[in-house]
Amino acid sequence: PSSPQWLDSWAPADGAERVRTLFARSFEGAGPDGVWFAPGRVNLIGEHTDYNAGLCLPTALPHRTYVALRARQDDVVRLVSAQTPDEPWEAKLADVAPGTVRGWGAYVAGVAWALARAGHEVRGFDAVVDSCVPFGAGLSSSASLECAFAVAIDDVSGLGLAADDEGRTQLVEACRRAENEIAGAPTGGLDQSAAMRCGEGTALLLDFRPGLSAVESGQPVPFEPASGGLELLVVDTRAPHALVDGQYGARRASCERAAEILGVDNLREIVPAELDDALAKLAPSDDDGVLARRVRHVVTETERTAAFAEHVAGGRVAEVGPLMTASHASLRDDYEVSCRELDLVVDTAVRAGAVGARMTGGGFGGSAIALVPKGDVGRVVAAVDGAFAAAGLTPPAFLLAPPSAGAGNG
Ligand code: ADP
Ligand code: MG
Repeated sequence: PSSPQWLDSWAPADGAERVRTLFARSFEGAGPDGVWFAPGRVNLIGEHTDYNAGLCLPTALPHRTYVALRARQDDVVRLVSAQTPDEPWEAKLADVAPGTVRGWGAYVAGVAWALARAGHEVRGFDAVVDSCVPFGAGLSSSASLECAFAVAIDDVSGLGLAADDEGRTQLVEACRRAENEIAGAPTGGLDQSAAMRCGEGTALLLDFRPGLSAVESGQPVPFEPASGGLELLVVDTRAPHALVDGQYGARRASCERAAEILGVDNLREIVPAELDDALAKLAPSDDDGVLARRVRHVVTETERTAAFAEHVAGGRVAEVGPLMTASHASLRDDYEVSCRELDLVVDTAVRAGAVGARMTGGGFGGSAIALVPKGDVGRVVAAVDGAFAAAGLTPPAFLLAPPSAGAGNG
């Protein structure tokens, strides 16, 4: 049997050196104006709650996308990525609009477009990218790409938005618009908020209730697994995503239908104490019990997320384990968005010594997380790797994820 595959993060100085070298190879003349980065993220708990006005709790990975960028006097954008070396990208900002640009550069040009739309003066640039955030693993390489460029453009344009949390919420909004309107991928802002607003040793409690200001909707919560002798382990299942789009839309539609029957604007209005009454009220229009299961997940998941945040804020990190495992069971049985690979990681990790484990992200593939006592990481990793091999599945990849800094320069 081969040894488990690790996806190590780069030391920040190595990431910076990589993009400086790539810049020198890609563009003539002076070097870049600077180097910037933004992290990938994992959601600790609170899944499928964002579009139900609920809570979620992401944290930033030490895995980052690095950018070296040099401002231009005109409005041309030229891009090179170490991940897509055969696809250098070029466009004029004046030509960027919804539906007009294709390829990976849309995520980048979209950020410049959105900042310009918000009234900022933004010019063109030459830039290179390199990243140790895996693509399509549910760890949000796309948001890390957008956010790394957002802080770079912010800096070279003298906008100063990255200097404080309020300004960062504006950069989050620009990145969200870039992904939705220019890259054409639906996202609710969770990923961009995590990449832009998380800090070392913290998680970000995001509250999607309407009526909160952008700053109010994200509160930092201290989260230091190491203080409890634990490691946050991420497992990229490498499972092929199938049918994801239709499933996501179907879940959203069920939640909207349930809210309509219950006469509420969103499912956050159903507090846990009223859950049984709500389920009884749904029953006459819910022959197969699907709506009841979806609502039970959404209501209990926000309750678990609040409890998780309280535990970690109070320094009781190990006590979140059962909440994680309960979240997974709810996603598997009530929300029905897990898959064989995710279940295998969770069951195997818990049996091998994890204090808790769950799928993270939208489901049907992507990654799972486990909180593991430091001394048991090797055993958990070997057990998961062995279980995948025994089941004939593609080998998974493993990441260690101490809660890390949000987007910045250097
Ligand atoms: P993820 O879960 O990783 O965010 P997405 O499908 O949302 O998956 O985003 C992945 C896409 O983002 C890639 O297909 C590519 O277009 C773009 N992308 C992300 N990082 C890079 C990079 N370093 N270089 C080029 N493109 C990138
Ligand atoms: Mg993405």
